Formats: sequence, C-alpha cells, structure tokens
Amino acid sequence: MLTLEEALARVLAKVERLPAERVSLEAAYGRVLAEDVVSPRSIPPWDNSAMDGFAVRAADLAELPVELAVLETIPAGGVPSRAVAPGTCARIMTGAPMPEGADAVVMIEHTSAWEAEGPAGVVTIRGGAHVGQHVRPRGDDVREGQVVLRAGQVLTPPAVGTLSSMGLPSVAVVQRPLVAVLSTGDEVVEAGWPLGPGQIYSSNTHTLLGMVREAGGLGLHCGVAPDDAEGLRAALARCRRADLVLSTGGVSVGDFDQVKGVLADEGALDFWKVAIKPGKPLAFGSFGGRPFFGLPGNPVSCAVNFLQFVRPYLRKMMGLSRLYLPVVSARLTAAVRKKPGRAHLVRVRLGLGPEGFTCAPTGSQSSGVLGSMVAADGLALLPRESAGAAAGSRVRVQVLHLEWLHGEAPALWADAAAPVAPPADGGGGADCC
Ligand code: AMP
Ligand code: MG
Repeated sequence: MLTLEEALARVLAKVERLPAERVSLEAAYGRVLAEDVVSPRSIPPWDNSAMDGFAVRAADLAELPVELAVLETIPAGGVPSRAVAPGTCARIMTGAPMPEGADAVVMIEHTSAWEAEGPAGVVTIRGGAHVGQHVRPRGDDVREGQVVLRAGQVLTPPAVGTLSSMGLPSVAVVQRPLVAVLSTGDEVVEAGWPLGPGQIYSSNTHTLLGMVREAGGLGLHCGVAPDDAEGLRAALARCRRADLVLSTGGVSVGDFDQVKGVLADEGALDFWKVAIKPGKPLAFGSFGGRPFFGLPGNPVSCAVNFLQFVRPYLRKMMGLSRLYLPVVSARLTAAVRKKPGRAHLVRVRLGLGPEGFTCAPTGSQSSGVLGSMVAADGLALLPRESAGAAAGSRVRVQVLHLEWLHGEAPALWADAAAPVAPPADGGGGADCC
C-alpha cells in the first residue's frame, strides 16, 4: 500500500497547469497570476511630498528660525513652475511633485503658516530638515521594469491594487478548473428528494462542492450514480466536460463497488489504496482523458482525502506555487491511541496557550461522524508506525481554517504590546517611521 507521501507524489506528478485567460481587475481578486508582471512605470512617478508643508533646501535651515520667500503653492495634481533657489521655498501638498532645487519638506505644523501669522509671501520655518525629509522618492514603491508580481501568486486585494497603480486594466490569470462531483450508491439520495427504505441523504456531494470552491475551482453537481457498472458509466459520461472528475463511494471491496472496475476498463487506474486513516480506499487514475479521483463514501474519509490529495492537485492545476495547508506544532491535550500500519489524521480543535498551540481531539474519530470534522479546525498527523501519542506530546497539525483565532486575537495583540528591546544603534533593520 502506498504511503501518504508516495500517493501524493504520484498524484502531483500527473498535474498539467490549465491555460491562462485575461480578466479585468474587477474579476482578478483571488485568482492566480499566470505570468510575471513587469511594471511599465515607476511609482511614484516623481519625487513628491509626503506631507502638507513647505518644500525647502535643507541647507537653508542651518539656523532656526529662518524666514523664506514663498514662490508658489503646488497642489496634488499640480506641476511646479519654478525652481526653489536659496532663501526661497514652495508651499506644497501631500502627493504633489517636488519642485526643482528643493530637497526636503517641513511640515506645516513647524512653520508660521500653521498659526497663519506673518505677511503673505513669506514663511517662518521653525523646524529643521535633513536632505530627503518627508520626500517620497520616484520609484519608492515600484521601479519601471521591475518584476512586481510573480506567476503562481494569488491576487490579494493589495496585489490587485498594485496592478491598478501601474495602470494595467486587465491581467493574465490561470483558468479555474471545472470539477465534476458525482456521488455513487443505491442508498444515496440528494437532499430535497424523498427517501426510500434503507436510503440516506448525501453529505459528500456538498462537502466536496464546498471544498472545490474553497480551493479556487468551479464545482459541477453531477448527482448520484447507482451501484451498477452501466449506470455508473452513463453518469460519468455527464462529467466529461469537466477538467477533473471526483466520485465518492464504491471504491472499496464491497460486492457493489464498481468505480475501480469501470476505471480499469474504460480509463486508467493508477492506484486505489493509501495507508492513511481515515481514507484508505482512494482510486486515482483517468476517465475519458480526464484526471479522476474515486474518493471513499464515508463522509470524513471523503473530506480528508480531498484535503490531502485533491486540494494540492487543484492548486497545482491552477499554477499556484503554494500547494499545501499550513502545518503547526501543537501539544496534545489528551492521549490518542492507534495501531501501527497507517498514518492517522485526527480531527482536532486548536487552541493557543502561553507555550504555543494546543490541540484536542473533537470527539469520535469514526469515519462516518462528520460532526467531529465540522468541529475540527485541524488534522493532527500521527505517523504510520507510531502506536499513538501521549497527552502533552507534540504533534504536527495541518491547519484547516483560522476562525478559531478570532476569539484569541485581542489577547495576541495585547501580548504584542508588551515591552520589547529596541534595536542596537547602527544595527540596521526596517524603518517604520
Ligand atoms: P462506500 O464507500 O460506497 O462503501 O460507502 C461507505 C459508506 O459511506 C456507506 O455507509 C455509505 O452509505 C456512505 N456514503 C456513500 N456515499 C455517501 C454520500 N454521498 N453521503 C453520505 N454518505 C455516503
Ligand atoms: Mg457505496
């Protein structure tokens, strides 16, 4: 049986990135860049003022206070008409281009203009200036010809804002994969339809449609196929226009499990078992020239297998450079027992204590109990050959979502406000002000 890592490597080796399409900036948020973006211009395009105040020559301010003649007022959107010569200055607004000759800005609060005193055409400067003070140099944010964004990067709101600031109205992104979701099983019925004797409502269809969407794909609801080869073939034919096909159920060793057979006959079956719990039965191959995942029917196995295999597959298909969920190290609050042989992915709730992350199992770990998956915000990985983990031991946890952090955020920020040592003089580091 393949290990989790072996199966994942086999799956990812098969991925082909989808083609690119051009979308307007309005549609770009959350999409994946298909190519590097080189800036056609510098931002800001010229040296400009970071303050409302006076553009001066720093050398004129050696002795304070000093009186300077005001040549003109330069508003944002205006253009300076005169060079600043010794003994003169220009009134300037935030974002306005610096006039020639000036090399610093004194904020209005440090001048007589703040109190509106003195004669017109003259200002008294009370605060000093060093060369470059309150001046935002040309290209401070982006330089012309610079690679600003890289292929494989998700377009976050500031990234879309950056594209816009470069004057680019559209961008090349990777197409979103269309993912067919087909449930199988004579007992499975979609919500909204009447239940017959022995039947249950499907959970997997909608778990998967949601996960596809969360991963950036477009889900295609293909309904439920019966447990016979003919019916399954007919249902799979409905999935052919998708870029990727997902089925659930019918991949195990039951008398009516048809998925592997149909795949082997009419497509290709690469492998169908992985040494993990939950989620051992996982068929991977192709059908009708499309990549195909036959996920298990048990609701948690189905969800866990999607997260381990289909999610990274989809992300690679979309050209993303980051394929995996984040992993943190957390301390278990309760013992977890297991048999060696398969890696276990335990549904846990994460917490944040004074010594870092903690994790607590969310209840029954049966592969049919979706409630403990709903309550989970992480999956703790217990390695294949381990016999469990004691309470207090550290485990690796794949983080599913961070909603749990919301309740903790004020405490986190309060901690961040605790006194910290300032950097040593001349020690470099980022300049925050
Ligand atoms: P199977 O993998 O087909 O043997 O199914 C394993 C278990 O999962 C059985 O108890 C099925 O009834 C259940 N199951 C299969 N498909 C679904 C589904 N779409 N939603 C909820 N449970 C399902
Ligand atoms: Mg079944």
